[in-house]
Amino acid sequence: MTQSIALIGHYIQGRSVAGNSGRQAEVFNPALGRVSGQVALASVDEVNQAVAAAKAAFPAWAGLSPLRRARVMFKFKELIEKNHDRLAEIITAEHGKVFTDAKGEVTRGLEVVEYACGIPEMLKGEYTEHMATGVDGWTMRQPIGVTVGITPFNFPVMVPLWMLPMAIACGNTFVLKPSERDPSASLFMAQLLKEAGLPDGVFNVINGDKVAVDALLHHPDVDAISFVGSTPIAEYIYQTGTAQGKRVQALGGAKNHMVVMPDADLNQTVDALMGAAYGSAGERCMAISVAVAVGDIADPLIDALVPRIKELKVTQGMDLSAEMGPVVTQPHRQKIQGYIDTGVKEGAQLVVDGRSITVPGFENGFFLGGSLFDHVTPEMTIYREEIFGPVLCVVRVPHFAAALELVNGHEYGNGTAIFTRDGGFAREYVSRVKVGMVGVNVPIPVPMAFHSFGGWKRSLFGDHHAHGPEAVRFYTRQKAVTQRWPASIEAGAQFAMPTLK
Ligand code: NAD
Repeated sequence: MTQSIALIGHYIQGRSVAGNSGRQAEVFNPALGRVSGQVALASVDEVNQAVAAAKAAFPAWAGLSPLRRARVMFKFKELIEKNHDRLAEIITAEHGKVFTDAKGEVTRGLEVVEYACGIPEMLKGEYTEHMATGVDGWTMRQPIGVTVGITPFNFPVMVPLWMLPMAIACGNTFVLKPSERDPSASLFMAQLLKEAGLPDGVFNVINGDKVAVDALLHHPDVDAISFVGSTPIAEYIYQTGTAQGKRVQALGGAKNHMVVMPDADLNQTVDALMGAAYGSAGERCMAISVAVAVGDIADPLIDALVPRIKELKVTQGMDLSAEMGPVVTQPHRQKIQGYIDTGVKEGAQLVVDGRSITVPGFENGFFLGGSLFDHVTPEMTIYREEIFGPVLCVVRVPHFAAALELVNGHEYGNGTAIFTRDGGFAREYVSRVKVGMVGVNVPIPVPMAFHSFGGWKRSLFGDHHAHGPEAVRFYTRQKAVTQRWPASIEAGAQFAMPTLK
């Protein structure tokens, strides 16, 4: 039987366009282990076309009232709701995560669109009447121009939706460069934005790899770049983009610890760890990859986790009973298996080995089972590096102070959680931990759309977190205006610094 292979191009100036660079990459259905599409990899010329479209669309879009821009967001919200299942299917088909989880991803993105609907309120600015005699002053926030989003494979809908609703609602135009591993959801969202009434050129999608990214980083008409992905690339984007005079926020990788205090409710903790470590096959930047077992909780914790991990329902994501789907590609599966091999070599105890499993009917899929390591120590590779797969490491520490020191010593600081019934420890942890997002008995503390999302240390480069109020600051420039009218102007030039009268 011949398979149909989708040709995935770009979206420029309100139109789908086939790529003409002559370069392509394969897109896989990870559950089947088969190529499902060929995505075009843009040339510099194609990037230039997208930026030119965004630049040309900017004055008219920025000149619309915020209310008119918000109305497009209201329609976009309705269309996402109407196409919720379709978007989730596209995610599952190219990413592999289970359909129920993909629907949750769409919901979390939708929440940012809902927040962006309130943009007139957020752009109101501040006003002072009588700043001085006969003088009034105000601050206002104006859009910055052509903004760019470069996004990772693991949230092909949610992460673009952290960026584009806020950038566009603030009055900017936008060029999205999604992950080449699961590019189709971005093109589908482009169609929805057009249907919502967004003028052509305000939103564009360029598919591609480093060639496209470098062209965007160096393009003189790109004003700001939002990046989400791995730390080495985030650092590169931040350094290169800021050296080109652009505003850049670059969110990077993670190694998220959950501290389990001896008084934690064991059942709740195990439930939380199962979802947070193995949900989306561990391919979440907020996944818990290290459980820090404090005092004598370690043995009961391991005993309770082992059967649960062995019972994980691993199969293709459209099976509604699936708890874990495949990982995104075969090379990524091999990389995760390699980390598990290294963990064994370096002396960690592999309590559950998920390296080789077969899913009946999906023998070629990129599946892994859940793995669990005990007696992991801070020098080990599996502790230091982000594995980004269904592998949980347990580090045993004697007391709270050692747990806090461990977490604060790690180079990443994206998310963390503490499970305890003791308010004193929880409060101390929240206050002293050097991590951007903290959960107390909440394993994956992803802030809602009306707060902002971001890590500390090498999990974020730049000054602004993503979505929420921080996005309004990132996607606008502040202007301060001081005004008086002829009746209150005193005669004569003033050479001393103006002061209050
Ligand atoms: P990645 O860094 O490989 O790719 C991210 C983007 O950068 C993609 O669009 C890709 O095409 C581009 N890119 C890749 N290599 C490049 C290069 N050499 N030069 C220029 N551009 C390049 O990340 P990924 O594997 O797609 O996603 C997983 C990573 O993203 C993990 O490290 C995860 O922790 C991180 N992530 C972080 C957050 C967060 O909010 N901090 C959220 C989601 C994912």
